[in-house]
Amino acid sequence: MALIDSYGRSIEYLRLSVTDRCDLRCAYCLPRGFRDFQEPEEWLCFTEVERVVGAFARLGVRRVRITGGEPLVRRGLPELVARLRQLPGIDDLSLSTNAVRLARHAEALRRAGVRRVNVSLDSLRPERYRAITGGGHLDKVLGGLMAAKAAGLKPVKLNMVVMRGENDDEVEDMVDFCLEHGFTLRFIETMPIGDSGRAAGDRYVDLASVRRRLARRFDLIPGVMPGGGPARYVRVAGSELRIGFITPISQHFCATCNRVRLAADGVLYPCLGQEHRYDFRALLRAGADDGDLEDAARAAIACKPERHEFREQPGKIVRFMSMTGG
Ligand code: SAM
Repeated sequence: MALIDSYGRSIEYLRLSVTDRCDLRCAYCLPRGFRDFQEPEEWLCFTEVERVVGAFARLGVRRVRITGGEPLVRRGLPELVARLRQLPGIDDLSLSTNAVRLARHAEALRRAGVRRVNVSLDSLRPERYRAITGGGHLDKVLGGLMAAKAAGLKPVKLNMVVMRGENDDEVEDMVDFCLEHGFTLRFIETMPIGDSGRAAGDRYVDLASVRRRLARRFDLIPGVMPGGGPARYVRVAGSELRIGFITPISQHFCATCNRVRLAADGVLYPCLGQEHRYDFRALLRAGADDGDLEDAARAAIACKPERHEFREQPGKIVRFMSMTGG
């Protein structure tokens, strides 16, 4: 069974946001001082999450990435992971986190069924990290990364949003750091999502320039690990290091998009960069049975837009990234 959208794309990947809250305030994601979060009663409870993910799994979704907001601020996350792990059809569970709280949770998450982890890290300099994240402590993140590695989460991928004049002088340092620790590295272009994402557009860096710059110092072998995701990868010759370039602006990857996003409040977004939305919470709380949920999942996939329009209509997406689940 496969979920095929009207552009022939097979949807097998669900990004699941478990909270819109975050313990950091990265300038391109959430405005400083932002407090207008959803109330926890508005979030799907674990049983509701399980039912929606179960419906998608019966229709062919097999990969789930838990995200947020910051997923580690949601209490009892390992329990949810263990429940999702039991769902027939789900064979890949991963986590996106800022890693501030990962040292405490890595082992329990691994035992519950998380296989791999993506960690956002935009700077290796403590003061700069604190400035970009609105007060974050780099030492906690580094502790989280080492705990992830020790717990056997593999691969550990670092996501770095590259910003002109803010951290673009660190791309080589980040490569060295990943070479040293055996992490995978991905660079990301800023996206005009929410006011904060749009404001970060003035620091936008076309990742083609980063790639050219790295090629001066490293021998980059193209074409490894296509994997169906948005990143285009190269490998650093003489090492196992993979470097991915996620280029939603300079070279969009919508033609191969294989995913949908379920927000913490049960709204399903078939596209990160469009306003289409399907309210699964309303369905659940109106007494929908499993067949109804499957019908809704099919209907949502049938209307998945062809592509985002970040370049043509940069003002379109008003919700913050932390709402949809990055
Ligand atoms: N808190 C988790 C984390 O830090 O990975 C998961 C959610 S976070 C919103 C997911 C990713 O979205 C992070 O890598 C973050 O850097 C990225 N992100 C947020 N806003 C963005 C924007 N406007 N442009 C590009 N990436 C963005």
